[in-house]
Amino acid sequence: MKYKHIFEPLDLGFTTLKNRILMGSMHTGLEEQKNGYEKMAVYFAERAKGGVGLIVTGGISPNIQGWTAPFSARLSSKKHVKNHKKVTQAVHDAGGKICMQILHSGRYGYHPFNVGASKIKAPINPFKPFKLNSSGIKSTVKDFINCAKLAKESNYDGIEIMGSEGYLINQFIVKRTNNRTDNYGGAYENRMRLPVELVTKIRKAVGEEFIIIYRLSMLDLVEKGSSWEEIVQLGKAIEKAGATIINTGIGWHESRIPTIATSVPRAAFTWVTKKMKQEIKIPLITSNRINMPETAEKVLSEGDADMISMARPFLADSEWVNKAKAEKDDEINTCIACNQACLDHAFQKKVASCLVNPRACHETELNYNPTEKQKKVAVIGAGPAGLAAATIAAERGHTVTLFDAASEIGGQFNLAKQIPGKEEFYETIRYFQKQIDLHNVDVQLNTKVSVDDLQKSDYDEIIIATGIKPRNLNIEGIDHKKVLSYIDVLKHKKPVGKRVAVIGAGGIGFDVSEYLSHKGESTSQNIDAWLKEWGIDKSLVARSGIEGVQPDFHPSVREIFMFKRSKGKFGGNLGKTTGWIHRSNLKKKKVQFIGEVSYNKIDDEGLHYTQNEAQKILEVDNVVICAGQTPFKELYQPLLDAGKSVHVIGGADFASELDAKRAIDQGARLAAKL
Ligand code: FAD
Ligand code: NAP
Ligand code: SF4
Repeated sequence: MKYKHIFEPLDLGFTTLKNRILMGSMHTGLEEQKNGYEKMAVYFAERAKGGVGLIVTGGISPNIQGWTAPFSARLSSKKHVKNHKKVTQAVHDAGGKICMQILHSGRYGYHPFNVGASKIKAPINPFKPFKLNSSGIKSTVKDFINCAKLAKESNYDGIEIMGSEGYLINQFIVKRTNNRTDNYGGAYENRMRLPVELVTKIRKAVGEEFIIIYRLSMLDLVEKGSSWEEIVQLGKAIEKAGATIINTGIGWHESRIPTIATSVPRAAFTWVTKKMKQEIKIPLITSNRINMPETAEKVLSEGDADMISMARPFLADSEWVNKAKAEKDDEINTCIACNQACLDHAFQKKVASCLVNPRACHETELNYNPTEKQKKVAVIGAGPAGLAAATIAAERGHTVTLFDAASEIGGQFNLAKQIPGKEEFYETIRYFQKQIDLHNVDVQLNTKVSVDDLQKSDYDEIIIATGIKPRNLNIEGIDHKKVLSYIDVLKHKKPVGKRVAVIGAGGIGFDVSEYLSHKGESTSQNIDAWLKEWGIDKSLVARSGIEGVQPDFHPSVREIFMFKRSKGKFGGNLGKTTGWIHRSNLKKKKVQFIGEVSYNKIDDEGLHYTQNEAQKILEVDNVVICAGQTPFKELYQPLLDAGKSVHVIGGADFASELDAKRAIDQGARLAAKL
């Protein structure tokens, strides 16, 4: 067996987990939806059927103060049990096991009555917390115990106590957020009192045969966090207090170091769990950026942990474990760690989904059922939209031909995958290629399709997924030899000089600037280089893993100037949870951001522009245009006029604010209906 460590059962004494894969906790927004628990039951049952060893729900608050946001999910009275039983029943019927995460958000609660260890406001929350007094702490402990007992009554197999990521328990543990002087503050023994008390009392309340996972913050990645010695001391106390398993938490939400974004190398933090393994006897779970079986197997076989937690990979593919077991890795729809449809949605109070799998969290409304009437379908364009439409239509039983003018499938993903830190985009193309093979899609590459070709054809359905054209700019000198498009740079690899102006500061402007600033191996392919770049001390001598450590950032190989016409911060439209990483990277590389300009001309001298009514010239070797895109759909209207059953999706439909999330979603939803 290729993945023998993954599929080795884990004996917990009173129960056995069938493999070493945990589906980690994720808030999906279903919790707060109408009929949300019915939808959650279907969502979790699919993952249980998919073979996951143990599932952990999204965070459920033990009381109102602990809400992450007003009216977020809570388990504090018997009337809530009925809903939770729908979830546990569905998972158990599907042969799975499930724990409920108890999450008290503390000062991260996005509401005016949040509480904390002290009155210190979180930098990422406008609401200042009330300090819990001693009776407040007592009632919080009681609420945790009550919640755990209700979880047991709801037939969960156990609970996970969220002690990391900067939530309430974590806030008690460190001086950054705890300046109390009572017996829950001051000395470390006092600051760690709350988590130990919680585990001890919950164990007593729920009995021995109930899983208690404690999520321990093993690397805070914020100033004034825990030292390694303190974390070990707490880990040992949690073990003694009766936890069944300890899970690894990496980084607080307010940390300015990425921990799960796509540019973070795979398995970048498992060395932390490995270090803890020397100290703790109960099973340890590791996590962060593990998304493929080979990585998970390596981590387990090298003894870094006893179990692997993956969360987002189960949005991307509910069948991940079964596919790994059958050694069909190439069929796995890999999570590319973009956060675009999961975490970004959570922050926007939208139901989560997945860029590469629009069915995620929408299992009750989007299904790819076998067709009753097989049709002949042509899909023009093998970018993300066309690939999703073609493969899903074929999976449903239609006869599909997929055309692309290019010599490879993937469309703009072939540009995206070349950006340092976006190497995961290769996986999506690989996944679609495998789906093409599995469902016998007839692929015609190097074939530019015309209206005439399609008019003469006998296709029952024609899907136009021809993508976009880069926007043509009306600037004097736009045809000057210094001017390049992002396609010239990324696809045609035209030479670029040492001083460069980039016009446009959208996603592509940022990506192209990243690409131009870079030389050599991408640090997202090398854990040690990446840790150095972000100033993380692998020896763990530094408090929180970062205090006093100087990041070792490679300077840019070019002088880069990014321009935009509009007001507001650069990268303001980038993803909520990842935009700051792109901005931070470019700032460290000394890329200059020049906003509120108008462009006058481009000539031998460089770029002429106006800012604050002053005319300026920037001498540059090249000007790279990344000024957005317009739809490329000239095939559509003539075919519609000719009475063909024709559809248009992705960039070809609407280019403004287009991204692959929308392109794939549109392709999938159309194919589900054909
Ligand atoms: P496209 O990907 O443009 O594909 C259209 C296809 O149609 C092309 O392959 C083309 O050859 C083919 N075609 C056109 N005309 C014909 C014809 N007549 N006959 C045959 N074939 C034809 N999006 C994100 O969501 N997240 C990101 O992080 C991200 N990063 C990006 C980074 C870069 C550098 C770039 C360039 C784009 C990035 N995008 C990202 C955008 C994303 O790639 C697009 O939104 C997505 O590719 C649009 O998909 P599509 O299928 O509509 O079109
Ligand atoms: P974009 O995000 O719409 O940005 C276009 C940029 O061009 C803006 O900065 C705009 O800035 C400028 N611009 C627009 N019209 C202009 C004009 N007439 N003259 C000069 N400048 C002009 O588009 P994009 O960067 O091309 O990206 C395309 C899509 O791919 C995006 O919608 C994005 O979602 C997706 N993408 C996503 C990511 C990601 O990481 N999530 C990465 C890459 C791409 P001003 O108007 O201020 O000048
Ligand atoms: Fe992974 Fe992106 Fe899907 Fe989130 S949206 S699960 S990060 S692929």
